[in-house]
Amino acid sequence: MKNLKLRITQFEKRPYRFTEVLDRSIVEAFEDLPSLTEDIKVNGVVELAGKTVIAKADIHSAYQTQCVRCLAPIDGKLDIPNFQVVLQIEKEDTIDLTENIREDIILALSPRFLCKDTCKGLCPHCGKNLNKAKCTCKNSEQDNGPWKILDGFKL
Ligand SMILES: [Zn+2]
Ligand SMILES: [Zn+2]
Repeated sequence: MKNLKLRITQFEKRPYRFTEVLDRSIVEAFEDLPSLTEDIKVNGVVELAGKTVIAKADIHSAYQTQCVRCLAPIDGKLDIPNFQVVLQIEKEDTIDLTENIREDIILALSPRFLCKDTCKGLCPHCGKNLNKAKCTCKNSEQDNGPWKILDGFKL
């Protein structure tokens, strides 16, 4: 489904538990944001206290992105255990949690991802993935260092 709507009558007397699957397309892929590879499972409970709706849920999906240093593909699990929304209602028949869920997912996907904390990235000179192999650029850097220059002066 594309919207997570709940009818007030479902939870006006007692807390209501729900499990819904939201279409992953509610989170549009845009630049730099990992794309979701699974639909979004939402397990929650919603209750009414006076005119206040309190919805709590845990949200699960999966994403695909690439390491910001070495560009290796990353497949990860998305888990948001403490989703919570508090709404004031007046005369509505339904509440819609879709926008809040979308915002929390975007927030959770926003950090820049590394394949591992110790990722060495790509060599800025030759573009080689330094996690997989050393390149020879380091050596040539040393070769061009001050000692090499001194070597050039044949005294
Ligand atoms: Zn990496
Ligand atoms: Zn290199």
